Amino acid sequence: MQKVKIKMTDQNSKSDLMEKIISLCKRRGFVFPGSEIYGGLANSWDYGPLGAELRNNIKQLWWNRYVHRRDDIVGLEAAIIMNPKVWEQSGHVATFNDLLIECKGCHQRFDQEKMESGKCPLCGKEKFTEPKLFNTLFKTFIGTVEDAKSTAYLRPETAQGMFVDFKQVLDTSRKTVPFGIAQIGKAFRNEITPGNFIFRTREFEQMEIEYFIPVPKIESDWQDVFEIWRKEMHSWTEAIGINTEHIRDYEVPETERAHYSKKTIDFMYEFPFGEKELYGLAYRTDFDLKNHFPEPPYRDNHSPVGEHESYWPHVIEPTWGVDRSVLAILCEAYTEDGDRVVLKLKPYLAPYKAAVFPLVSNKPDIAGKAREIYDTLRKKYAIAWDDRGNIGKRYYSQDEIGTPYCITVDYQTLEDDTVTVRARDSAQQERIKVTELPEYIGSRVGMLS
Ligand code: ATP
Repeated sequence: MQKVKIKMTDQNSKSDLMEKIISLCKRRGFVFPGSEIYGGLANSWDYGPLGAELRNNIKQLWWNRYVHRRDDIVGLEAAIIMNPKVWEQSGHVATFNDLLIECKGCHQRFDQEKMESGKCPLCGKEKFTEPKLFNTLFKTFIGTVEDAKSTAYLRPETAQGMFVDFKQVLDTSRKTVPFGIAQIGKAFRNEITPGNFIFRTREFEQMEIEYFIPVPKIESDWQDVFEIWRKEMHSWTEAIGINTEHIRDYEVPETERAHYSKKTIDFMYEFPFGEKELYGLAYRTDFDLKNHFPEPPYRDNHSPVGEHESYWPHVIEPTWGVDRSVLAILCEAYTEDGDRVVLKLKPYLAPYKAAVFPLVSNKPDIAGKAREIYDTLRKKYAIAWDDRGNIGKRYYSQDEIGTPYCITVDYQTLEDDTVTVRARDSAQQERIKVTELPEYIGSRVGMLS
């Protein structure tokens, strides 16, 4: 059969692709509409069993790559609700705003910059109020009294945890600048225009690194580190299976940059609904540490004797969205082969690394042997089990969720202790000894492969 990778060439096939992905996600349990039994909650999504695996695999890959494999980065898990002073000092209370206009017809508010025409997209009226600032921080209250004193915020970025805990991390990890602090966690923004499935939601997850460097003496001191991270972010996108041609670096002009940034690059991805930001890289200077620490929080004990130098390190911040990663990965992996859908995920990202099938389920020795293999493999990997329908249908079903290998236990297995292993992408089958299976699967689905 001829393999057809859906090309995102025209508007129709693009919106088609998006619909196919959303429907696959719901049908197979990657992503469901949130709170659906209560009619849902606009733009809230829940990750089902397969989505949860995919997300975890992305996060584990990231943590392994940037925390475990590097000597110069340590991890952190800070609280989501921080002292509200954090957000005053960071500038978010004052500046984390969108400029909104309100339709005089239906009273809905819109982000003026993102409006495509002068008409209200809901009621079609053309009369609006003057633009007003709307703060996108998510407010909540601590304790029983709901007043200004008890107001707190759900963090809009994980970054502030790394700044606020900077000294404690330093004291306990004995790292010296340059070094980074990495964190994966939820962030919340009261987005005015959420949408495009999991692309823009009010609750999302970030993977961020604050990489601390000495005070730059010349521009290239920070620019070189920035460049290293820029390349690294491209390398990451390749590692998760994104075609480099679908990524474009966009240098954000000064007028559009976040209040803390001296240089920002957005990594734009060709989503089916248009080219949009996938990840970002910013030079946050010493803005945040200076705001939180009146005294320099870092002392360089390696300066020449008697010249111990204290300073506020500068920061390069690479930041990755987990949800946008999931979406981009799905867009890249989705292929159709005739009427068969194959999700060509990188094996280490696939929700299941392999599926085990007994050729027939009513023969106890075949089913028992298959169970044994299943139980052995799933001590180490996420493995699927399927004994329904015919083998062709089972392959079809595993291809659709990206399982890289299907293992079938048949009559021959009982004679020579071998199984058929069928590879998702090539559909090639080979006979493998049962004793060699863990090594066979392991060497093909690990992070290094
Ligand atoms: P955008 O311009 O799309 O609003 P941003 O520039 O505000 O994004 P950053 O503040 O740089 O985003 O956040 C870092 C990363 O977090 C983004 O690159 C993206 O992957 C992710 N992200 C930000 N906002 C959202 C959101 N509302 N929903 C899902 N992911 C998000």
